[in-house]
Amino acid sequence: MRYPESLLKLARALSRLPGIGPKTAQKLALHLAFHREEAEGLREALEATRALGVCRVCGNLAEGELCPICQDEGRDRTLLAVVETVADLYALERSGEFTGVYHVLGGALNPLEGIGPKELNLESLWPRLPGVKEVVLATSMTVEGEATALYLAEELRRRGIKATRLAYGLPVGGSLEYVDEVTLGRALEGRKPL
Ligand SMILES: [Zn+2]
Repeated sequence: MRYPESLLKLARALSRLPGIGPKTAQKLALHLAFHREEAEGLREALEATRALGVCRVCGNLAEGELCPICQDEGRDRTLLAVVETVADLYALERSGEFTGVYHVLGGALNPLEGIGPKELNLESLWPRLPGVKEVVLATSMTVEGEATALYLAEELRRRGIKATRLAYGLPVGGSLEYVDEVTLGRALEGRKPL
């Protein structure tokens, strides 16, 4: 049987999304073809994400110059968590335990892949440090995440700023994104100086 070209095109686009295989993509495409209102809602929501950019302070997603966290005057600016990705930032936010601000690196050090300090969002981190009392190194528990945390700990030590690392108990080799809120909240509470 042959599908209409537009349906195939939609299914192909959907199958490129993370976690969606060809079968699910086909099912979703068919569903949207028969539910015009939902398809229209999706189109509008996608259209609205065009306004998303990167926060000029921390690297989080933002609709204007600043992300909602950097705009929030209630956040503790003496406490700063360094994370690899925006997904990790959201994971820490979900834990509800973190009251400080963030800095998103956009990855982790990985010499084999040619990712050195210059490839990460670090230049904008140093000017943020005056006034910061503690930097929580909330990079992943992977080889790259650990290497990044050690590199940053050394840089922070040279600048006389306290660095802490999330407590172990987090799965080794894992990204923060997939850790449940309770475990992440506890790891944050039990953070250790590095
Ligand atoms: Zn921000």
